[in-house]
Amino acid sequence: MVKASDFDKINVKSIVDNAAIGVIIHNLDSSIVYANPTALKCLRLSFEQMIGKDALDPQWHFVDEQGRILPAEEFPVNKVLTWKTPIKQEVIGVVDSYSKTSWFMVDAYMEVGDQPDKGFVVVTFTDITEERTSFSFRDVVESALDAIVVTEAQAIEAPLGPKIVYVNKAFEELTEYSEEESLGETPRILQGKFTDKQTVKRIHDALVKKEPIRETILNYSKSGRPYWLDLNIIPLTNSLGEVTHFAAIERDVTEVTYRAEQLEKRNEELRELKKNLQQIIDKQTAELKEANLRLEQMAYYDTLTKLPNRRYFQDQLVKILSHAERYRFKVMYGLVDIDDFKVVNDTYGHDVGDEVLILIAKAFFHVFRRQDAFARFGGEEFAFAVEFTNEQDVAVVCERLIEEIAKRSYESESLDKPIKVTASVGVTFDNTTGIANGTSLYRQADKALYQAKSEGKNRFVVLPLN
Ligand code: GH3
Ligand code: MG
Ligand code: MG
Repeated sequence: MVKASDFDKINVKSIVDNAAIGVIIHNLDSSIVYANPTALKCLRLSFEQMIGKDALDPQWHFVDEQGRILPAEEFPVNKVLTWKTPIKQEVIGVVDSYSKTSWFMVDAYMEVGDQPDKGFVVVTFTDITEERTSFSFRDVVESALDAIVVTEAQAIEAPLGPKIVYVNKAFEELTEYSEEESLGETPRILQGKFTDKQTVKRIHDALVKKEPIRETILNYSKSGRPYWLDLNIIPLTNSLGEVTHFAAIERDVTEVTYRAEQLEKRNEELRELKKNLQQIIDKQTAELKEANLRLEQMAYYDTLTKLPNRRYFQDQLVKILSHAERYRFKVMYGLVDIDDFKVVNDTYGHDVGDEVLILIAKAFFHVFRRQDAFARFGGEEFAFAVEFTNEQDVAVVCERLIEEIAKRSYESESLDKPIKVTASVGVTFDNTTGIANGTSLYRQADKALYQAKSEGKNRFVVLPLN
C-alpha cells in the first residue's frame, strides 16, 4: 500500500509508459520529446519515426469530424501554444498513408516549468474509432419490422422453458405482450388450441439438437387473436462456439396464408366446375326444355285438369270458324256447367271437388276429337266448338257429353259412396255459316245454358243463332 508521503517516489514515467491512453509530450517548439507505446501504436509509428519530428510530418494528416484537413495552426499542440488554454475532449481524425482514418478523443494542456521559456505541451488521447464506426446492431433489431425474440438455450422443456431474455418492439405489437410481461416467460404462452402439435414437436426437436428451423405456426396474441407466423429460429453461439441462445425471427403471414387458402379453394372450385361443366350444361339444357314445356302448357293448358284453357280455345275457335267458312261446314258452340257443384265442395271439401273436376275432364277427352275445340273455361265451366254438317249432330254431341259426365263416378277409400255429378249444356250453332263470331256464339250459348239450368239441369238446350 502506497502512503501519501511515498507518492513522490512513484515512477510516473512507467505509469505513462503502461497507460492505455496515448500520451505525447511536445516541446514549446512543438517537436515531440516523448510518446508512450499506446500513442505509437495508435498512430502506427515507431519511436524513431516519432521522436524529434514535429506534427507537420507528412506521413499522416489530421482531419476534423467533418473530414476537413486541419491546418497546422489548428493542431492540438499549436492551439494550446497559441491560445494558452487547454483542449478538452476534441474529436480528431488521423488519416494515414493508406487513407485509413482513426478517430481520437483528444485532451491537451501546457505544463509550465520553472522558467517561462521552459515547458511542455502534453497531448493525451484515446482511440474512439470503434465507437464512431461501429453501428448498433441492437438498434437494427429493436426497430425491425419482424418480431424478434431471444430465448436461453438451456432448459427448453415445457412448461416453463425456454426463457425469453429479449423481445423487440414488433414482438410487443404482434403478441400484445409488453417487454415486461414477456421477459422470463416462455414463447409457449403464444401457443393455443389450434396450434399444430406436430409443428411444436418439430421445433422442440430442433432446439434439443441446437439446430436452426423454419416453420409456419399458429400463435395467439394476449387478447386471443390467432395469427399465422413464419418462424425462423437460429441458434446463437458465444465466442467458444457454444449455443447459448436461440433467436426467433417471426413474420405475421396471416393474410398471405389466408389469401393462399382462398386461392386454393377457388382453384379447387374451378377444377371441379370444369370437370362438371358438361354435366351441368346437359342437366341445365334438359331442365330448360322441361321448363319451356311447362311454360307452354301453363299458357295453353289448365294445370288441374290438363284440358286446354280458354286462351287455347279462342285460338282454336278462330281456326275452326275460318276452316268451316271455307269448306262450308257449320259450327256448334256449347257451354257446359256442372250441376250443384257447390254441394260437392260443401259436402266433401274443395280437394275432393278438384278430383271430381279431373274426372269430368276425362269425359271431354273421350267425346271430342283432335280437330274439335274444347276447354275448361274456369271453375266448373267448360266449352266446346265442333264443325258439323247435319243438324242432328248437335243433339248427338250434347247427349254423348252429358252421358259421359253422368256415368263417371269418383271413388275413394275415405268416402262411403261414390260421387256422381251431372252437367247442363247450352248450345248454339250458326245456320248461315261464315258470319258468326266468337262473341255472339258465346252469348247465345250462355242463354241456352241458363235455360237448361232453369228447366231442371242435367240436360241440353239448343238455341240456334239466327
Ligand atoms: P248450378 O247447378 O246452378 O251450377 O250450381 P252450382 O253449385 O254448380 O253453382 P255455380 O255454378 O254458380 O258454382 C260453382 C261452384 O263450383 C262454386 C265453387 O265452389 C266451385 N268451384 C269453382 N271452381 C272450382 C275449382 O276449381 N275446384 C273446386 N273444388 N270447386 C270449384
Ligand atoms: Mg258455374
Ligand atoms: Mg254449376
